[in-house]
Amino acid sequence: MHPARARLIHNRPQQQGPVVYWMHRELRAADNWALTFALHQAAERGQALCVAFCLAKTYSLATLPHFAFLVHGLRHTASALEGLGIPFVLLRGDPALAVPEFLRAAKAGLVVTDADPTRLKRQWLAQALPRIDAPVWEVDGRNVVPARVVSDKREYMARTLRPKIHRLLPEYLDAFPALEPQPGAQTFPWPGPLPRADWEALLAEFGAPPAAFPPGEAAAQAQLDTFLRTGLPRYADDRNTPVDPASSLLSPYLHFGQLSAQRVALEVLAARGISTEARDGFLEQLIVRRELAENFCLHTPNYDTPEAFPAWATATLAKHERDPRPHLASEAELDAGETPDALWNAAQRQLLATGHMHGWLRMYWAKQIVLWSADAETAMARCLRLNDSLSLDGRDVNGYAGIAWSVGGVHDRPWPERAVFGTVRSMTFSGAVRKFDVQAFVARWSGAA
Ligand SMILES: Cc1cc2nc3c(=O)[nH]c(=O)nc-3n(C[C@H](O)[C@H](O)[C@H](O)COP(=O)(O)OP(=O)(O)OC[C@H]3O[C@@H](n4cnc5c(N)ncnc54)[C@H](O)[C@@H]3O)c2cc1C
Repeated sequence: MHPARARLIHNRPQQQGPVVYWMHRELRAADNWALTFALHQAAERGQALCVAFCLAKTYSLATLPHFAFLVHGLRHTASALEGLGIPFVLLRGDPALAVPEFLRAAKAGLVVTDADPTRLKRQWLAQALPRIDAPVWEVDGRNVVPARVVSDKREYMARTLRPKIHRLLPEYLDAFPALEPQPGAQTFPWPGPLPRADWEALLAEFGAPPAAFPPGEAAAQAQLDTFLRTGLPRYADDRNTPVDPASSLLSPYLHFGQLSAQRVALEVLAARGISTEARDGFLEQLIVRRELAENFCLHTPNYDTPEAFPAWATATLAKHERDPRPHLASEAELDAGETPDALWNAAQRQLLATGHMHGWLRMYWAKQIVLWSADAETAMARCLRLNDSLSLDGRDVNGYAGIAWSVGGVHDRPWPERAVFGTVRSMTFSGAVRKFDVQAFVARWSGAA
């Protein structure tokens, strides 16, 4: 593993005692740099290792299907870890309290955790660290090029981040080491794997995960295999059509850390018979756009408010705030997908029915919410509420960047001036009609909810 992936974030004297990996973002056993780092630290010190996950009662706007997807996936990961001789400990409660309490009880000598720039995770860490009396290392296992390495400031747009990423890719896009069975399980003071009945009770508590996305690392790999065979070859031509799209549908797995983006990139590069346009087009989304979103949240404290907008966008939106709107949508209309726009309704119903909306439509969907809201602040709050509660991949840096792009011109440039949007880019129904078979998409989803 490249040493710059890990960063000491809590400097305490070295201790005797087991290494604990507090897993909260990269929820997988395979291809996980934080786990690799923790294993290495445990081996170097001759200490046992365990992985701890703390299930918080509430998480932003997450709903039962999100929790169901998470815990079903976690069960697979726990048994994969235990198969390797790495104990998996499931904690419940406020992570800022429950994790330090566990670390004290386990007499942890060193702690490893996932890097995550989102607000709630920063809060957990800020509250937990003063209660931890061991060194804590943070590992960036989400990005191919670690976010803190690639840039120390908020990047203006993809154009400014892209060359920095491409320069560092040869250094960071390395193969994952094989996970070897660990002998440490015997020495870690734990009561043993969570009994089957306890797992069953936990799974029952949250109900079924969304049918469209079977959870877990194996299901994520299966989805990747399907994409490599059927989607990637068509990606250059068909990624932007919501009717029979070529996109990967990997975002829920990437969001919940059940799949590593680096693994996806390695397999895409190894795939045969793929055009350069398809391969590069996909890697642009998977690496550049995805890591631009991480850079945005890392360097923009209020990434989910209009304070995150560039000055030109704030000014033009203010200038057009009193423009008459073609329609003022109510929350209920939006929730149910019952606005005057058949395409918007179909996209919303796809989201309601499957927990996923096609990428091109997400832009259109958010732009129409701007058009139908009293001001940009209201539009942003509505996009966040709907996206984070309904989309399985919601509550993600990609969502915060995508919404800030749609509503407030983040990572974009000024366009010709129009009503309501000013010089923020707008998207129209007629533009959609020119792009794909809108009627077919509407017919497919208009009845669904
Ligand atoms: C208003 C709006 C809201 C969005 N909300 C979310 C969200 O909540 N969660 C989320 O993961 N993505 C979000 N996106 C980004 C993007 O639309 C989705 O990542 C993508 O549609 C997921 O489908 P896929 O996995 O089939 O994508 P593919 O086209 O197969 O792309 C592969 C991967 O690349 C990444 N990616 C693709 N497009 C983008 C992008 N524009 N920005 C950053 N990363 C990208 C994703 O991780 C994706 O899984 C949002 C975009 C907009 C405009």
